[in-house]
Formats: sequence, structure tokens, C-alpha cells
Amino acid sequence: MTIYKGRRTKGLLFVLSGPSGVGKDALLIHFLETCPGVTKCVTATTRDPRPGETAGKDYQFISLDEFKRMIEAGEFLEYAEVHDHLYGTPRKLVEETLESGIDVILKIDVQGGLAVKKLMPEAILVFLAPPSIEELERRLRNRLTESEPEITKRLLDAGSELERIPEYDYLIENGDLADAADRLRCLVMAERSKIER
Ligand code: 5GP
Repeated sequence: MTIYKGRRTKGLLFVLSGPSGVGKDALLIHFLETCPGVTKCVTATTRDPRPGETAGKDYQFISLDEFKRMIEAGEFLEYAEVHDHLYGTPRKLVEETLESGIDVILKIDVQGGLAVKKLMPEAILVFLAPPSIEELERRLRNRLTESEPEITKRLLDAGSELERIPEYDYLIENGDLADAADRLRCLVMAERSKIER
């Protein structure tokens, strides 16, 4: 017998945003290992793979023509231009996963996060912030994946992304990776326990 008939059957949709270099990928690896029942949605991009990235795991790496076709066909839940490349969230994958009762986490930029919230107000927006801009710059330089102009562009973009924090539901500061992953896990657990009204 079910104790509470109003129990949720669909998965929850989480969005994780934060400036480039803040450590979203590392956090997600840590988090996903310790939080069963939630899956990361692989998004599509027109940018080239970085060394070590795998197609279908990190991104669907697609051509500009294919991206345009997917826009025309309405296959994106949202899409945005980020740091001069196009990125989009595949609508069907998100909807089907949620429908099957599995929670979804989207690692997308702030414009994308806010667009998702408009379409799906029940989405839970989480912002991952660096302890300081100096630390963000250090992390961006240490990963050695961007050229100097790209680093400058990403740091500039970081400023405008941080201004949107008040529009998010949760803020996690990524000073220590394990601590940040714990916080994310705790908020996911809390959201799962919420009673729907
Ligand atoms: P990167 O090129 O460093 O992997 O990602 C650049 C930015 O694009 C990150 O902030 C990442 O979260 C964001 N991003 C990745 N996929 C999507 C997407 O489907 N939509 C939007 N709006 N942003 C995305």
C-alpha cells in the first residue's frame, strides 16, 4: 500500500551552471559516483573535442549544419551561443529520462539555465561559484586547454554570469571539490524529499 498517494513518479530536473573553469565537470564526476538515480544529460556542441574528451560522453560533437537542422526540427529544449560556439540540450533525451523516473542534471550555461526555468519552472537551478575571480583565473590557466584570448573571453563572461546568481535557487562555492559534491548531493536529497503541493 502506498503511504502517500501524491508521491512523485517523474524525475527531477537539476541545472548546474557556473563560469568556465570553476570545476563543473570534476564536481559532476564526484557527485554522480555518490548519488544514484541521477544522470547527466549529454548536450550537443559545434565546438571541437578537447584532448581527452569522448564523443557521446562529454558532448555530442556535431557540425554547424546538423546543429541548424536540429534547431529547425525543434529538437533542442534550449540552445545558446557560449564563448563563440553553439551548445544545445536535446529535448527528447531530457523528457524521456524524466518520464522514466530518473533525475537529470544539465551542465549548461546561465542563459540556458534561465531558459529551462522559463519552460519548466519546476527545474532546480544550482550555481557553482569559485571562491574568487583570482582562483578562477588560476584554474583556467592550469587546465591548459584554452588560448590566451579564450581565457580572457571566459573571464569576461564569468563576470556577467556571476551577476545572475540571484536568479538561481542554490549557490555552492567550489573551494573544496569533495565538500561541493557533498553539498550538491544533500540538496538533491532534500529536493527528493519535498512534498508536492
Ligand atoms: P565547454 O566548452 O567549456 O565545455 O562549455 C562551455 C559552456 O557551455 C559551459 O558553461 C557549459 O556548461 C555550457 N554548455 C554546455 N552544454 C550546453 C547546452 O546544451 N546549453 C547551454 N546553454 N550551455 C551549455
